Amino acid sequence: MIILSFLLNFTAISVHLFLINMSTMARKKKSSEKKSPGKAVSTKGSKLDDISKLSNKELKERARKFSKQYCVGDGGDFQLKKYSTDPNIDLGPEDKPLMKLTLETGVEALAELQDKMYAQDKWSLLVIFQAMDAAGKDGAIKHVMSGINPQGCQVTSFKAPSAEELDHDYLWRCQKNMPERGRIGIFNRSYYEDVLVVRVHESILHASKLPEELVTPDIWKNRFKDIRNYEKHLSRNGTRIIKFFLNVSKKEQKKRFIERIDNPDKNWKFSSADAKERNYWDDYMKSYEEMIRNTSTRESPWYVVPADNKSYARIVIVSAIVNAMDKLNLEYPVVSKEKIAELKTIKQALLDEK
Ligand code: ATP
Ligand code: MG
Repeated sequence: MIILSFLLNFTAISVHLFLINMSTMARKKKSSEKKSPGKAVSTKGSKLDDISKLSNKELKERARKFSKQYCVGDGGDFQLKKYSTDPNIDLGPEDKPLMKLTLETGVEALAELQDKMYAQDKWSLLVIFQAMDAAGKDGAIKHVMSGINPQGCQVTSFKAPSAEELDHDYLWRCQKNMPERGRIGIFNRSYYEDVLVVRVHESILHASKLPEELVTPDIWKNRFKDIRNYEKHLSRNGTRIIKFFLNVSKKEQKKRFIERIDNPDKNWKFSSADAKERNYWDDYMKSYEEMIRNTSTRESPWYVVPADNKSYARIVIVSAIVNAMDKLNLEYPVVSKEKIAELKTIKQALLDEK
């Protein structure tokens, strides 16, 4: 309880600082670039408002501090109950404009980093999303990646495996979709399904083409080990990995399911299978906990994102990605003197053209 209340207070303070500073930065940028003339952000009544100057460097430092509280790091003694599904800060309609601006600012910072990563063409980033249905994976991917150059980003969704995929080991289909150097790869579900849904419904495992003698009581422990090694291998070869578990409450899921049923435009998002899986909630939570405990590492950490508030969750996600990319020390490639001289010659030739 003491730990929990510490976490809650810390959360409130951190989001406050993060929002204030991100927003200030956005306003500075917007006015100098004249992107949105006359579009003032209403800060009236918002507890998130403050005026302070923030450099790009400071902004990234805020993103680091803010996202850190949701980063599991080394999974060793991870307990899901210590992570709230709620931001634990009283966010009202008066905070909406600043929340929006904060996300926009984060996305701008992300786009700038992605541009450098693409130009440098050495690192790649793999971002994995796992969650219960209606936790907000799709919306988070859409909003967080909205400002990014599509050329530098690849999104892959993993559903129940096809016949071809079942003819291979469970990492095969993911390996085929790993981001190329210079790109961000988004996995909407991933190989982690093979220690989640497949664990909750062991019948899936038995129905797969895995030889029966390999289905031993150690299978989950071995899969965790294989995943850790696989991610280590990817890290050693230039792919940074960060993983998000969107931690939505059962109550909030119910609310979102009802919304999907009530709203004709959202009907397509709902399937009876979703409601069925909800009956296995506790089994899923146990599997998520074990998965995070066994596969969160300092190099490739899990973030447990409070997902009951979608806007807040998106800000956590963008700040964690900005932080992960910032740590890569991305820079535009340095152009040699010879190349600069060559460019000058070509420019002159173009100017001299008749
Ligand atoms: P939405 O939020 O739109 O519902 P979704 O990611 O849930 O998106 P769906 O098509 O509804 O997409 O669901 C994909 C389903 O495929 C999930 O129920 C998931 O558990 C299942 N799935 C993914 N990988 C595997 C796997 N390896 N074995 C069995 N089922 C899997
Ligand atoms: Mg679904």
